[in-house]
Amino acid sequence: MAEDCIFCKIIKGEIPADKVYEDDNFIGILDINPEMKGHTLVIPKKHFKTLLDTPSSLGNEYLEAIKKVALDLIKKEKAEGFNIIFNINKIAGQEVDHVHAHVVPRKSDDGCRLKLDGGLREKKKNN
Ligand code: AMP
Ligand code: ZN
Repeated sequence: MAEDCIFCKIIKGEIPADKVYEDDNFIGILDINPEMKGHTLVIPKKHFKTLLDTPSSLGNEYLEAIKKVALDLIKKEKAEGFNIIFNINKIAGQEVDHVHAHVVPRKSDDGCRLKLDGGLREKKKNN
């Protein structure tokens, strides 16, 4: 666990979050500033800064957690598709230095203006 890491604090239960998924090694929480309704962050319980620091041995389980969250969003939010995004380092829009997958549900005509090139960061600046 890292001190002053907001996601570590959520995992420890020190600050609240809307938890929609949990298993031994991962949690899924609703993003506090969602791109779309249901936008979920899938986060390993252990602190790693980016995907590049995350042990590959967690890969299968990470993928499983992401898929479960996405399948759940098909039911809950009638998602028709997804953007699944890892921002790695500040230059690519990473603001929280604890690896997390953004699972953004998509529907036809949802008006979402996500761009692959720093789209999350650009949208936040424009808000
Ligand atoms: P990134 O820019 O890829 O590091 O994404 C960090 C995400 O974490 C942003 O989309 C924020 O809205 C989200 N976020 C920050 N603090 C919280 C929090 N306390 N609970 C839920 N989501 C958060
Ligand atoms: Zn952390």
